[in-house]
This record gives sequence, C-alpha cells and structure tokens, in this order.
Amino acid sequence: MIFFKSSFFCCFAFLVIFGVHSSILSGQKIHFLSKPPIWEDLDPLQKTITKKEFVRALKTIYTPNQTNWDHIELGPNYADIRKMYGKEIFYRLHFSDSSQNAVPNKKKPFIILDPGHIGGEFAEMEFRHFQIPGYRQIREGEITLNIAKILKKKLVQAGYRVELTRTDNQPVTEQRPKDFEKDALEWFCSEYKFKTLPKLEELTRKQHIIIENRKNLLFYRTAEIHARAKFIHQKKPDLVICLHVNAAPWPKDGTQKLANDNHMHFLVNGTYLKKELHYDSIRYHMIYRILRKFSSREIEVTKNIAFEFVKQKTIRPFVYLGKYASSVDKNPYIWSRNLLANRIYDAPVSYLEPFVANGKDTFEWLNEVENSESKDSVSFVEFYSQNVAQGIIEYFNSNQSNH
Ligand SMILES: [Zn+2]
Repeated sequence: MIFFKSSFFCCFAFLVIFGVHSSILSGQKIHFLSKPPIWEDLDPLQKTITKKEFVRALKTIYTPNQTNWDHIELGPNYADIRKMYGKEIFYRLHFSDSSQNAVPNKKKPFIILDPGHIGGEFAEMEFRHFQIPGYRQIREGEITLNIAKILKKKLVQAGYRVELTRTDNQPVTEQRPKDFEKDALEWFCSEYKFKTLPKLEELTRKQHIIIENRKNLLFYRTAEIHARAKFIHQKKPDLVICLHVNAAPWPKDGTQKLANDNHMHFLVNGTYLKKELHYDSIRYHMIYRILRKFSSREIEVTKNIAFEFVKQKTIRPFVYLGKYASSVDKNPYIWSRNLLANRIYDAPVSYLEPFVANGKDTFEWLNEVENSESKDSVSFVEFYSQNVAQGIIEYFNSNQSNH
C-alpha cells in the first residue's frame, strides 16, 4: 500500500503547467509536445468576430486580470497578433462589422465525455490513488470512468450521440514514461542549473526520483492529454465534458487523515497569464478559442450543470486564491482557468471538479455499496452522472427553443 502526500489533488497538479517545459524550435517558443502554430490556419475565421466581441472576450474571460497585452496590438478594424515570441512578425486578424452566430445548433448534439486520468495500474503513478486501511482503494481514474459510462447511457437515451475518450483504465497515448527519459533529464538540467548532462550514476537518490516523476508526468499528463486532444480533433464534437473529482491536500505530517471539508467548482477555459501568453502555441490556442466563440457554450453548459449539483446538494464553492483562476459572471461555483485539456481540446469544454474525495462525507459515500436497494441512497457515480446529464439536457433544450 502506498501513501502519497499530495495524491489525488486535481487542482494542485495542473499548477505545474510551467514545470512541463517548452522547447525552442527555430526561434519559436512552444509548449512541450505542442506543434509550432500555423497562424494561417486561422484564415477561415477572418472577419467572423467584431472588435467589440474580441476585446470583450479578452477582458472578461481570457485575460481578465490584464489591462494591456504584450503580443496583441489593436488597430481600427483589425488586431495584430505576434506570431513568434521576441520577433516583430504579426498575424493580422480582420474584424467583421456585424456580429455572427457562435456555435451552430444541431438537432442531435455530439458529446465527448473525457473521464479524467487513467486509473488501473497507472493510478499510483499519476497520484490519483489512496487507501484508508480497512477500506477499498479510491482511484479517481476509475470513478470518472464509471461516471462516464452511466452518463453516456443517460445521454444516449435522451437522443444524443456520445463517445468516450477512453473506455477502460488504459492510456490513450501509445507513449510511455521510457519515451521521455531524455526530455526529463534535459528538464532536470535546466531546472537545477546543470551546465552539462550529468551521468545517471552521479545523481543522488532524490534526484533520481525527481527525474522519474518528471518522466511519468510527461507520459500520464502531457502525452496523454495530447493523445485525447487528437481524438477529439478528429471527431469534432459539439461539447466535451471533462469528468473529475477533487481532493484536499493530506496533512503535512504525512498521515492520511480524511478532511472535514467538501466543496464543488466547475471550470471553463480562460484566465491566461502574461507569462503563459509568451508561448506561441498557448497564444495561438487562446486566439483560436476566441474566434471559435467556444466560451459562450462553455459558460452556459457549465452553469446548467453546476445548477443541478447545487440544487441537489448544497456544499460550499471552492475558492481560488491565486491569479491563475477567475470567478465567472459572479457565479461562486464557476471559474475560468487555463488547463492543458480545456485549452487544446478543439471544442467547448466543461471541466467538472465537484466534491472532495478524501473528505469524510464523500469518502463515506464512495464506500457505500453501489446500486444499493434502499430508495434513499443514490450512489456517488449515479448522483454525479444524473446531474451532468440533466444540466446538458437543460442547456440544449433551452438553446434550441431560443433559435
Ligand atoms: Zn482529476
């Protein structure tokens, strides 16, 4: 049995976005595993957004804490967006004179469900696993997969087309940690200021663990999310739902004492930091999402889902204290954050983080026998999937009747 100090903590884990190193390719500053952006791919989206809409998207969702932009220069009816960090080369985006409809409405929406993490034999490696003596193991990747399977049934019954990014506890990517040995070592050298690549036998045990963890991270997070992004890009869904369960940090003394806390929050893409926007690939993705007008659907769907959860079980909203997340529309449960998944998935993304898995209440709920015959007890996965299904259905119903 392995106990991890910081295991099973979604929010914390994504903070290390900049720990996942970038590469400098022919002068471009690119986020690790991202391809150098081809700005001309935005050409079909020319003249599809007004200047007012573009500036509003930046100010309210994408860069709410910034009053000026280092890489975007606004002209009278265009914006010049820097193509390469440190270079005076710009992509000129022309604005339209009048507002155009955002995402087209379909009669039978196509939804991709993304069960967070991998689970199974990978749960320990991805720090999404814990076990309290005498109780079953809790693996986030397996809970989210169960939710996805139940949710799919509900949505299919309601007439939606639904697919999952994964249907078992195996990675989508074909890469494995061993494929990232060189990258992990290079990262280690730059992070710990080694001038040349050290010999492995000269490293301490602690340094070996740091490199090992980096190798694993590049596999289970970076490569895995890129593989899922590729799947989503090919499928072209109307909506992606990322399913997660949150967790609280374990006490600092190393014990695994369940927390007395429980909270919920739900994420949309946004709040890009200045330092993030230095990366050409990240800047490109932000502009792409603005032009595709993903955020209106993201926010509305997420509001509907959050509403269902809160209606059924009111617990406190999680509150971010850092500048890397911002509250959306003054809704205490909805936040915008720039995560790898909700940035590179090519669709509106609703990213769900309800409940604290290692909090007393949720832990007990997770341990109750599923499909209990008692009418009063609804299993955790059933409750979760029912609220998400209801939120999605409400959103598309009201959206269609409005058009
Ligand atoms: Zn998670």
